[in-house]
Amino acid sequence: MQKEKVVVIGSGPAGLTAALYTARANLEPVVISGNQLGGQISITNEVENYPGFPEGTTGPELVESMQKQAERFGARIVIDEVTEVDFSSGSPFSVKTHGEVYEADAVVVAVGASPRRLEVPGEEEFIGRGVSFCATCDGFFFRDKDVIVIGGGDSAMEEGLFLTRFAKEVRVVHRRDELRAGEALKRRAFANEKVSFVWDTVVEEIVGNGKVEKVRVRNVKTDETNELETDGVFIFIGHYPNSSLFEGQLEMDEAGYLITDERMMTNVPGVFAAGEIQDPVFRQIATSVGQGCAAAMMAERWLEAQE
Ligand code: NAP
Repeated sequence: MQKEKVVVIGSGPAGLTAALYTARANLEPVVISGNQLGGQISITNEVENYPGFPEGTTGPELVESMQKQAERFGARIVIDEVTEVDFSSGSPFSVKTHGEVYEADAVVVAVGASPRRLEVPGEEEFIGRGVSFCATCDGFFFRDKDVIVIGGGDSAMEEGLFLTRFAKEVRVVHRRDELRAGEALKRRAFANEKVSFVWDTVVEEIVGNGKVEKVRVRNVKTDETNELETDGVFIFIGHYPNSSLFEGQLEMDEAGYLITDERMMTNVPGVFAAGEIQDPVFRQIATSVGQGCAAAMMAERWLEAQE
């Protein structure tokens, strides 16, 4: 059993910012990284809307800087995953990982969200063999190939545009005839000659033999079905919160997002939450950083009040 003042669960922008602030408050936080140090931004290529970088930056660069900055003030980042928590008898809380059991006076939960699945036949089967949720990770394997992007939001446009660096053709299959993405990305996507759109269409099956070969689609207006040949299917249809670890322990909404008060505290006093695990609305690096900062400040105050 390792006794800690603060354990931060998750190492995305919210977690690393909570670590920075609690470290600067001399709380010597331990950050449990989760299965991907840096979280979702570590697999994001271009970051153009995080303030302070007029020329933009990349996700991995941002993660490395945030990590170094937190460590400089005494945060310890442990590469491990939390397997179980027990918040039922109040502070100190028990946080179990594969390698350790921590007893923490306060906890900041910043475990983020994961890409939503289409839940159609073939999707799971062909992950890593043509089905991907990350253009930055897998785009390289589709040089001069045809790919399909599913979704009509900012992620689908951003990742689709990134894929044009490699792929011969990027077809965006969207279930409506209008994109959800913001104006700037929309304009760039429409202007890119490698990008085309298949409107009002849903993918009902991903088909292949060892690797993806085609998708079966249906037009939602005409009910007409069709097959589109492709080498890859990139799915960007939103995210779900990684809250299953906290079921029965922390209050969440019907979609699984943790519920916090205006001080970032969950229903368990001493357990705070920040970033996409409690924010279905903004989901930006800048907002996650702000929430991580707020959660850390509130954790510090809460710990002080307990003394
Ligand atoms: P999103 O905005 O929720 O968009 C998801 C897209 O997937 C929507 O177009 C949606 O269609 C479609 N979709 C959802 N479920 C589907 C299903 N089962 N089958 C087919 N299509 C489905 O998600 P996101 O693009 O990941 O963006 C999330 C948040 O991050 C947003 O706030 C976004 O602005 C932000 N973000 C910003 C940037 C940037 O500023 N550069 C980059 C990435 C993300 P409908 O449109 O019909 O609902």
